[in-house]
Amino acid sequence: LADRLQNTIKKITGKGKVSEQDVKEMTREVRLALLEADVNFKVVKDFIKRVKERAIGQEVMESLTPGQQVIKVVKEELTNLMGGEQSKIAVADRPPTVIMMVGLQGAGKTTTTGKLANLLRKKYNRNPLLVAADVYRPAAINQLQTLGKQLSMPVFSLGTDANPVDIANQAIEQAKADHNDYVIIDTAGRLHVDEALMGELKQIKADVKPNEVFLVVDAMTGQDAVNVAESFNEQLDITGVVLTKLDGDTRGGAALSIKAVTDKPIKFAGMGEKLDELEAFHPERMASRILGMGDVLSLIEKAQENVDEKRAKELEEKMRTASFTFDDFLEQMGQVRNMGPIEDLIGMLPGANKMKGLKNVQLDEKQISHVEAIIQSMTKKERQDPSLMNASRKKRIAKGSGRSVTEVNRLLKQFDEMKKMMKQMSNMQGGKKGKKGKG
Ligand code: GDP
Ligand code: MG
Repeated sequence: LADRLQNTIKKITGKGKVSEQDVKEMTREVRLALLEADVNFKVVKDFIKRVKERAIGQEVMESLTPGQQVIKVVKEELTNLMGGEQSKIAVADRPPTVIMMVGLQGAGKTTTTGKLANLLRKKYNRNPLLVAADVYRPAAINQLQTLGKQLSMPVFSLGTDANPVDIANQAIEQAKADHNDYVIIDTAGRLHVDEALMGELKQIKADVKPNEVFLVVDAMTGQDAVNVAESFNEQLDITGVVLTKLDGDTRGGAALSIKAVTDKPIKFAGMGEKLDELEAFHPERMASRILGMGDVLSLIEKAQENVDEKRAKELEEKMRTASFTFDDFLEQMGQVRNMGPIEDLIGMLPGANKMKGLKNVQLDEKQISHVEAIIQSMTKKERQDPSLMNASRKKRIAKGSGRSVTEVNRLLKQFDEMKKMMKQMSNMQGGKKGKKGKG
């Protein structure tokens, strides 16, 4: 999406107080950005209405960090706009389940056919047959056969002379005979949407009656992807979308528009060329990406707005060497209060959703106070070295803080997890050494 949106977000994030005027300005930018991204007018209108209602409501205005809250609302609504996570694949009443892959040339159909087969086997213990129905380029058939070899999976082909409809039908017969429970048909693409191609695909669809028609689109093609999705959906009534090349540096605005325009779920995301690089599509991660939040740099920047420069460096060093203590934790806690909900902060880390134990580090204001009380009941030594902790110390701390031993234990566990996470974080930053300052 537009840089303008990024700027507006930057502006509003740091605000300690947000007026209705601020919210109006912000939503105006969001609206323009969405319209520029060719998102359907009505969708944008509804979206903005929802954001406004929530942003001007109590939820935001009465929070400690209204600027952050507005962004959170926008992010949540963006997530909703892209739909929930929907990586389910249809199962036919009587096997084989037939999946037809469609899309423009170069979108990643053949690769995704292999990836999907791999996923079906790995995750669902299925036994797919791959079908080479792109008869226009001999290389396309070879490509699928190579993938089949890599996966040790059968590939059905009748060469380049056969009709794709016949190929598909015969492949299904073969799958029945060989007990393949899934048939994935890799079809031909063109450089542009054209009638001949659509005619052929429609014919295959009408004849074979696939359980799924997956449109494969290249996320890097931005707005073109949206138009392509619209035409394919009109002509073929697709059942889902696979967005490829999300490992590239696209912001992924296409995802938003595609869902809005076709109203079909984005089911999977291609994250690389390798056969195991297909993931369920996560609308929430995509929303972060669209808002430009999945960026460690901005996280550090944000921390620096609240922590003084020198102290930030020290903390960073501590994170790096994992010599972070409960005293540091206590200090961070205070910073976190200034920065907004900790989930938001953690959500900004790339791959944060993948981190185990994330649930356990979600804290709200009340919990933060409890945690502070517990840490304040520890001795200096205990704060420096949590490994000293034993049953009697825990009991003493619980008593001193008015919390339960269970809570003390939970905090110790969280602290341990947080330390691990920091280590992961600093490893991630390792690649960007020396650039963590705001410059
Ligand atoms: P098709 O013409 O639609 O069948 O497209 P291909 O499957 O042949 O893919 C075209 C190119 O895109 C190939 O070089 C693939 O390796 C590459 N590709 C496909 N999916 C992805 C992806 O998710 N990430 C990256 N980086 N490359 C991909
Ligand atoms: Mg191909």
